[in-house]
Amino acid sequence: MEQKSRFGTRAIHAGQHPDPSTGAIMTPIYQTSTYVQESPGKHKGYAYARGKNPTRVALEACIASLENAKHGLCFSSGQGAEDAIIKLLRPGDEVIATDDLYGGSYRMFTKIFSGFGIVFHFADMHNASNIRNYLNEKTRMIWVETPTNPLMKIIDISGCAKIANEKGLMLVVDNTFASPYLQNPLDLGATIVTHSATKYIGGHSDVVMGAVCTNDDKIHEDLAFIANSCGAVPGPMDSFLVLRGLKTLHVRMQMHCINGKAIAEFLRSHPKVDKVYWPGFSDHPNHEIAKRQMRGFGGMISFTLKSHSMEDAFALASRTRVFSLAESLGGVESLIGHPASMTHAAIPKEQREKSGVVDSLLRLSVGIEDTEDLVEDLRNAIG
Ligand SMILES: *Cc1c(COP(=O)(O)O)cnc(C)c1O
Repeated sequence: MEQKSRFGTRAIHAGQHPDPSTGAIMTPIYQTSTYVQESPGKHKGYAYARGKNPTRVALEACIASLENAKHGLCFSSGQGAEDAIIKLLRPGDEVIATDDLYGGSYRMFTKIFSGFGIVFHFADMHNASNIRNYLNEKTRMIWVETPTNPLMKIIDISGCAKIANEKGLMLVVDNTFASPYLQNPLDLGATIVTHSATKYIGGHSDVVMGAVCTNDDKIHEDLAFIANSCGAVPGPMDSFLVLRGLKTLHVRMQMHCINGKAIAEFLRSHPKVDKVYWPGFSDHPNHEIAKRQMRGFGGMISFTLKSHSMEDAFALASRTRVFSLAESLGGVESLIGHPASMTHAAIPKEQREKSGVVDSLLRLSVGIEDTEDLVEDLRNAIG
């Protein structure tokens, strides 16, 4: 049933069966560290909970189903998931990554894994063919994030997959911003898809979690080995929370898209607003690719002010009443952030501004509150 039914049905049912001992419709929170064995080595597939836990197994199957993947694994955070993926590599191996990567990924690549001899190149992937400039005989992996943070750049996943296939490289796509509802990278030729499930997948800003999906049996086996060996696994309570959050992913995403469009259009028509970054605009530089590889344009939007003033951006962000000033994204509640002082503060001003992250840039994670309340809130805050 799981592969044949449609997205919303799978979001609610995939990987889940009534509990065999009681008939409980919800997968129980198996709050246990170990499992009793009949005789040494004779057990029902569960020996120790770092390796496997039934609540986590249900969640992994559900996420895999939504990514049209054969295999899914969950990790204790998005960063834990990415850490496991990079551990597939060996010293000397090279990675070509998107140049405006999530700050935490950039930090892990440059501050942790560079020290273990893995080499990272950061490439402008507006045209996927630009990846070719960084290829050599040591390249093992292409790492893509699309849409990017905070400028909502779109990268052509199929175009990247073509190069990866040609050269026998792994293509990893961080699908956090789109969620499996809007984009399925494995269907477009990616080898591995990774998520911060903290964001849209969980959807309620109440848990930190990561996920990795693949159709490749060997890669899955290696990742499961790394997960069990290194131990960045999520607990059963967190797995339950994400399993519950996932049941409304399709409904939430539909509303994120409706609100996102309304707010992007409102901002664009506002006299005090300069640029609005949202892949749904027909003049977005890669709008045609977004239309081809995404089912909708989501609720992530960034914008700048005509005054170009940091003070004005700060004042705006502190005047909103429905949008809360906070890091993170993808929850039911709307958030506003100031990348230059928050997520991108570690990047030198000159380099930051060159990439478009100017002092007046604000980023919105548009939630699923009533559209009019959100528009009104921004109208009042912009003044
Ligand atoms: C948040 C985020 C991560 C990291 O995930 P955590 O769950 O916070 O560890 C990775 N990639 C993207 C795009 C993110 O937004």
